[in-house]
Formats: sequence, C-alpha cells, structure tokens
Amino acid sequence: GLWLENVLAFWAGEATGIAMLAPLILTRQPWRGTASERPPEEMSRGAKLASAIGLGLILLSAWFAYGVSLSLTLDISYLVFVPLIWIATQGGFRRTTTAVFALNLAVLIFVQTGLTNPQVIALQFNLMTVSYVSLLLASVFSAYRRNRDRLRHSVYHDRLTDLPNRTRLMELLNELGKQRSQRYALLFINLDRFKLINDTYGQNVGDAFLILVGRRLQSCLGEHDVLARHGGDEFAVVLPEITSVKGVMALAEQLVEKLEQSVQVSGYEITIRASIGIATARAGDADALDILQKADTAMREAKTSTAHYVLFDTTMKERVRARVDLERDLKLARSRDELEVHFQPIVSLTTGQTTGHEALMRWNKGSSGYIPPLSFIPIAEETGLIHELSAWLMAQVLRSSPPEGYIAINLSVQQLQHVGFVKQVKQLLTETDFPAERLVFEVTESMMMVDLNANIAVLEALAGLGSKIALDDFGTGYASLSYLKRLPVHILKIDRSFLQGVPEDSEDVFLVRTILSLAQSLNLGVVAEGVESEAQEAFLREHGCQQVQGFLYGRPLPLGQVKVKTLESS
Ligand code: C2E
Ligand code: CA
Ligand code: CA
Repeated sequence: GLWLENVLAFWAGEATGIAMLAPLILTRQPWRGTASERPPEEMSRGAKLASAIGLGLILLSAWFAYGVSLSLTLDISYLVFVPLIWIATQGGFRRTTTAVFALNLAVLIFVQTGLTNPQVIALQFNLMTVSYVSLLLASVFSAYRRNRDRLRHSVYHDRLTDLPNRTRLMELLNELGKQRSQRYALLFINLDRFKLINDTYGQNVGDAFLILVGRRLQSCLGEHDVLARHGGDEFAVVLPEITSVKGVMALAEQLVEKLEQSVQVSGYEITIRASIGIATARAGDADALDILQKADTAMREAKTSTAHYVLFDTTMKERVRARVDLERDLKLARSRDELEVHFQPIVSLTTGQTTGHEALMRWNKGSSGYIPPLSFIPIAEETGLIHELSAWLMAQVLRSSPPEGYIAINLSVQQLQHVGFVKQVKQLLTETDFPAERLVFEVTESMMMVDLNANIAVLEALAGLGSKIALDDFGTGYASLSYLKRLPVHILKIDRSFLQGVPEDSEDVFLVRTILSLAQSLNLGVVAEGVESEAQEAFLREHGCQQVQGFLYGRPLPLGQVKVKTLESS
C-alpha cells in the first residue's frame, strides 16, 4: 500500500515539477514590437492554464500520499512563502517563476536522492501550493508595475522617437537650476525646412527621418548629455556639466556636420540643414524657462544668419521680436495689397536691344518703406507663404501685359517640390493666353541639390511647355561640369558678386572669363548680373558675353515706369 502510494506521490511531484516549467516557458516568448507598445507582463492564458493543471496535480499527489492530513513540516515550509512573496513584489513575474522553479527542482533532487519520507513529500506538496500563490501574486504585481512604468514613460517620453520629451526637458532644466556651482548648457536644434520634407515625401517618411535625426544626434553625445525632442522638428541637448563654451561650440559644429550628411529614407535621398541656438547658465542662477528662451532666441538668430549655430547674447531678443513682427505682417501683406512686381531690363550686348525683363517681388510696407526681398523671401519660404506670394506674382505678371520680350521669374525650392506646380503654371498660361515661350524660370544651383532627380523632372516639364530655364547666381553654388550637363538649363546668370571685381580683381576676371567660355562650350546663353559701370560692360563685350542686367541699364521699376531702351553705343 505505502509503497504504491509513495511511487504515485513521487511521480505526481515530478509531473508537478514539469508543470512548473510551463508558465516559465510560456512567458519567455520574446516581444517583437517596439518597446513602447509592449503589453504589460501579465500571465498569459497558457500560463494560467499550466498553473491550474499544476495545482490539480498537487492536489492529486496529496490525495495519493496522505489524504488531507499534513504535518509539522508544513508549518515550517510556510516560511518559504516570505522570500517568494518578496521576490513576487520586487522581481516580478519572471523572477518569481524562476525562483519557484529552482525551489521545486531542489526539492525534487532532495526527494530523488533517497530521502523519501512522507514529511519531505509533504514539504514538496506544500511548496507547490505556496509557489502557485506566489506566482499569482507576482503576475498581479508585475502587471500593475508595468502599467505604472509605461504610464510614467509615456508622460516623459516622445511617442515617435522615444526620446525624453518637453516635460522631461523642463524638469531636467529645473533640477539643474537648483543645483549649485556648476555650468551647464542647452543646445536648441531646429531643422531647416523640415515642413518641405513632410509635404514632399509624406508624413511617414518625415517620421522616419525624425527618428534618424534623433539617432544621429545621439551618436555625437556623451553618456551624461541628454537629448530630448522638444516637439515637431525641434530637438534639445542638455549638457549638464561644461568646462568651456569652446567645447560646446565644437559639439554644435559636430552636430551640424553630422546632420548635413544626406540620408536614404524609404528610397529617397534627403539632405537637411539644422540651426542650433546655444545658451549656457550657471546652476542656481536661472530658471528653466530662462535658458530655454535664450537658446530659442539664439536658434532663431541662427536661422536668419549664415551661421548654423549661434551662442546667445543679450542683443538678440530685440532682433527676434522684429522678425516675429515681420512674419506676422508678411502674412497680411497680400490682403493689405502691399505687394508689387518690379521689372528690371535685360539687355543684349550684340543688338543693344532690351531682350527681356526679370520680375522681382517688392513689399511696400507703408510707412516702413520697401522691405528688401532678401529679408522677406526667406521668411516666406520657411513659413510656406511663398506658394501664395509666388502664385500671386506669376498671375500678376501674366495678366498685366508686361513689357515686351521675355519675362524671367524667380522660383523657390518649395515651388519646385510642390506636386501641383507644373499644372498650376499650365493652367495660368491657358487662362491668360500668355505664350510659355516668353517665360524664363530662374532657379539656383543650391536649390537643385535638395532632390536633384525630382527637380530635373520639373524643369524638364517646364521646358517642355516651351519656357526656358536659367541657372541663377551661377558660380556661388556647387555646380560641377558633369552636374551642369544633366540639368535642362538654357541660360547661365553670372552672379553679381563676380562682376564687382571686374575688371580690376584678377580672380574675378578669371572667374567671369571661365564661366563665359564654359557657357560657350556648352552652348548656353549667358546673362551677367549687376553690371554697374562702363568698364564692366566693355570687359563683358570683349569676352563675348551676350546679355547684361544691372543698374547701368535700369533698376527694377513698376510696370508703368518701365521704358524699353536701346543702347546708344550699338
Ligand atoms: P536675384 O534673383 O539674383 O535678383 C537680382 C537682384 O540683383 C535683384 O535684387 C536686383 O535688384 C539686383 N540687382 C540688379 N542689378 C543690380 C546692380 O547693378 N547692382 C546691384 N547692387 N544689384 C543689382 P532684389 O530685387 O533685391 O532681389 C533679391 C533676391 O530676392 C533675388 O535675387 C531673388 O533671389 C529674390 N527674389 C526677388 N523676387 C523674387 C520672387 O518673386 N520670387 C523668389 N523666389 N525670389 C525672389
Ligand atoms: Ca533672379
Ligand atoms: Ca541672381
């Protein structure tokens, strides 16, 4: 009797031990999604089932071995409950399962080494019960803890990049503000024209790109530096302890360079630039908002200047305010009827005739006078307002019977990248009955770099309508010969900065001559921009330049004042 009971009890215990493994295995499946989407570590249905079967086996083993009578060892074994519960609350479900399994294994080995007396088996039975209760508790606790952690994580982290978010950034800056006698820095990073990437390639590519930017920035940082996403296309880097401003500037330089390397996202080659504003503070002397504002101000300054990263100084606030005002007023300029188109003649040196005009945008801001295009076009480009302004300009030009000859219209990169742009142009041409052959579209080399192939396609479409393409500000960009050959370009416009030193400066003379012979060998037309003196004209004439534009022949003027002149010398 006892022998059979012992054997049965032994195997029941063995089976229970194996059953103990089940929840462990079942909860060991690796999670394949992103970390933030991982569900709380609850007992799965399989684990629950395995636990139930295990519990049944325990009861069965107890039934076979003892009926329901238990002994003193049972009370002692309750002590095991204490560390198991502790592990359950501290270590969570996995660790408890592991501990329970190890315990069970130990007892099994103990049983199998021959010390099979009823008390040991009772102990084992008891441990099983205790184990399952612990497991249950552990599962409840870890589900609770994971939920809590996930909640806390989502409060402090950005969903897309999983970087610390604005809330965490503010908290960190607050903490730093309270600490004593150490210097810290904040770098505020804003991507230039990120909106363009979103508009062109879609939100998904934009998102993927942002994640990539986050990784790139992170790769330049030390282990104590904190990278946060402030929102949108804005990142922030906190350097909690700095020794010199120089070091911070060097890091900014490094970040800028890293970001400028083009990347492949979903098959698109994307290049972007960033503007970085830098502010430093001594712990204890500034509140979080203060340094944030300073870095933001410096970043805006970086946006408008040629520098990519700028250290905050106190005169900046004024200038930033002026820019914000300008931005606001520009949005109203159209409805206030403050925009004008002026025309500047382009003259042929061979015939002496005015061959065409360049249409240039003017903002007549009432009492403040004319705001130069170089002060408002970049703002319009950044805010997306350029589409509206350019559409207005083009419609204005085509509807208002402009001066004879061809009309050159400047394009912004945003327009080239806009999907419906060519269609818009076509529509306007049919609507106004304006011959496409009379239009020249001016683009710059640097514009082309954003997405070369797509831009070439748009230019080809425009050329297909019968219009011509001019490469503006030629010589200031990155153009190489091979690249120039790929562009569907008809005219090179020599940048006016090169004309300034002609004919005195030998370097400028050399450059202009080079461009002229390049144009000749590629069979392209040339317009020299910014011609102001007779000496410049004589030089250009001598070296075979076909067309000229500049104050010598006429400043940009409103339609009513444009006079088509003929050169006297011809
Ligand atoms: P840009 O396309 O290079 O235009 C030529 C600029 O050179 C014009 O400046 C013109 O007034 C100036 N200029 C012409 N001849 C001379 C000269 O002999 N001496 C000097 N010192 N300057 C001369 P503006 O009108 O101030 O325009 C500046 C820039 O603003 C333009 O450079 C162009 O990039 C941009 N822009 C103007 N209108 C538009 C527009 O409708 N759309 C776009 N996207 N950009 C525009
Ligand atoms: Ca131009
Ligand atoms: Ca130009």
